[in-house]
Amino acid sequence: MPENSAMAAFVAELPKVELHVHLVGSASPATVARLARRHPGSGVPTDLTELREFFTFRDFDHFLTVYWAVQSLITTSADIHDLVVGLAADLSAQRCRYAEVTVTPYNHVLDGLSGDALLEGLASGRNAAATEHGVDLAWCFDIPGEKGTTAGRETLIFALRNRPDGLVSFGLGGPEIGVGRALFEPFFTAAREAGLHSVPHAGETSGPATVWSAIHDLGAERIGHGTSSAADPALLAYLAEHRIPLEVCPTSNVRTRQVESVAAHPVRRLLDHGVLVTLNTDDPPMFGATLNGEYLTVAECLGLTRTELVALAGNAVRASFLQDTRKEALLAELASVG
Ligand SMILES: [Zn+2]
Repeated sequence: MPENSAMAAFVAELPKVELHVHLVGSASPATVARLARRHPGSGVPTDLTELREFFTFRDFDHFLTVYWAVQSLITTSADIHDLVVGLAADLSAQRCRYAEVTVTPYNHVLDGLSGDALLEGLASGRNAAATEHGVDLAWCFDIPGEKGTTAGRETLIFALRNRPDGLVSFGLGGPEIGVGRALFEPFFTAAREAGLHSVPHAGETSGPATVWSAIHDLGAERIGHGTSSAADPALLAYLAEHRIPLEVCPTSNVRTRQVESVAAHPVRRLLDHGVLVTLNTDDPPMFGATLNGEYLTVAECLGLTRTELVALAGNAVRASFLQDTRKEALLAELASVG
């Protein structure tokens, strides 16, 4: 077997954990075909071949077109259920055992989905993910930052009032430039006091100052992306010392043009400074990414050994919000593969 296909087989065998994937962005063409058939007249293609063409990444604007087209289709609990189960099937096919999935309740409610329908779809989908696909799912409810403090307040109220099974964390997404992290401090403080973990996006599309703000103002325990931390040695040292993991999404960063290529990605620098790096997919079908693919590409670009790949997969287990016993079991399973 050539070395790259031997490595691909090794990656496929590794039990994995995914920590940064958006529910809407995880929709595969097959899932979207199902939703589009359920909602005729939406303008989204129902034919799978046409949908695959629609999904092919062209540029960032086209990605946004696809993302918002999918978002607008989601108006019933059955739609949410199908999204969750579709994601679980895709994760299971890659030996992903556990995922923390970002859900943006505020956007769904704006698109006409009731809060109750969202909760019902998440609960039934999560159940089916575990029983039909052997994948355990947890939720991160996140604030769409571009919609300001109203979205912050509403997301917090929705999260704390309902506290669905599997809700582990509170996040912040959307643009970073012009949307200071500190604006959302009161909502993160309340969420943390209620026992939710703080996992904001920061340092994806802006510099290290945003990561510092996520840490100081939002009490970030883990950072969504955080790639620009590589430009600040003091921040790298802080992340390593305080064991604040980064949810690195290499293909996403290339697609959104934050980095030129995976080879040029600062992931090596992050690792060399002892930062707890995890590999993730962000919006996988829309970026043409898979979790296995992220591991393989990074392994090839950085020349990682199998032992180093096992360590990377272990980072995601350690950085997760799983119970300690479950973490130990997964780490033991990883050690047996390595
Ligand atoms: Zn993201």
